Amino acid sequence: FRVQISPLKGNHEEKMGVVGLLTDVTERRKLERMRSEFVANVSHELRTPLTSINGFVETLLDGAIEDPATAKNFLEIINAEGKRLANLIDDLLKLSRLEDRRTKLNKQPVDLAEVIHNTVKMFEARALEKNIELTRVLPREMPPVPGDQGFLSQVMINLVDNAIKYTLPGGKVQVKVTFNQEEVTAAVSDTGIGIPPESLPRVFERFYRVDKARSREMGGTGLGLSISKHIIEAHGGKIWAESDQNGSTFSFTLPLHE
Ligand code: ADP
Repeated sequence: FRVQISPLKGNHEEKMGVVGLLTDVTERRKLERMRSEFVANVSHELRTPLTSINGFVETLLDGAIEDPATAKNFLEIINAEGKRLANLIDDLLKLSRLEDRRTKLNKQPVDLAEVIHNTVKMFEARALEKNIELTRVLPREMPPVPGDQGFLSQVMINLVDNAIKYTLPGGKVQVKVTFNQEEVTAAVSDTGIGIPPESLPRVFERFYRVDKARSREMGGTGLGLSISKHIIEAHGGKIWAESDQNGSTFSFTLPLHE
């Protein structure tokens, strides 16, 4: 609490007492702390690829460039780290746009089946490369969902991308949609590495990863799920994760009526 005491004076400046003001600043303190933690996290996340890029460039300049095989290897690492940096900046911009209260969703009737077809098409090659069976189960007909097509595609892409990333070769990924009078539910299931129960409630937090090294190796930013959560909640829906030793399922619902 912040305490403010001011003297209370009468018409002729005579002292009549004091006024005490108690302000609850805990919420504000909490927000300030979260903000500075976020800035520290962002700086760390940006620093890591940059340090690696600088390190490899210096080694190249120090002579490694003379050996073509080593040089190629280092340049490939520099290239990948540069891409990761760009992804991170893109994700941060998306997140800040979503957190800006002035950002309005461009809501229109969205054909979720089409969004899913496009997403599956986008990942077919990667699934094939990894020998993962990528399938979809959609209702024969489906009502349009009031939503922002671009943002909803982003959620689908994030979930399918993760499912393929965290599933070993030979596994399966399935996108399934059901609906009732009120809402549509989409679920992305995989037969992947799963998420330990203590991590499940935290995967939607910014920069939270079960295995930092693994996620980085896969080019992850640790922001995909928190971006997805923002998007679904801005549509009035819910998103959650379930997982056991057989794999994980990420589901979300979207209301069918405004
Ligand atoms: P990242 O860029 O690291 O994938 P996300 O926000 O998309 O970031 O996911 C956060 C973390 O949740 C991941 O690092 C991973 O540990 C875990 N995760 C997400 N999806 C899956 C999944 N399908 N199977 C297993 N773990 C997952």
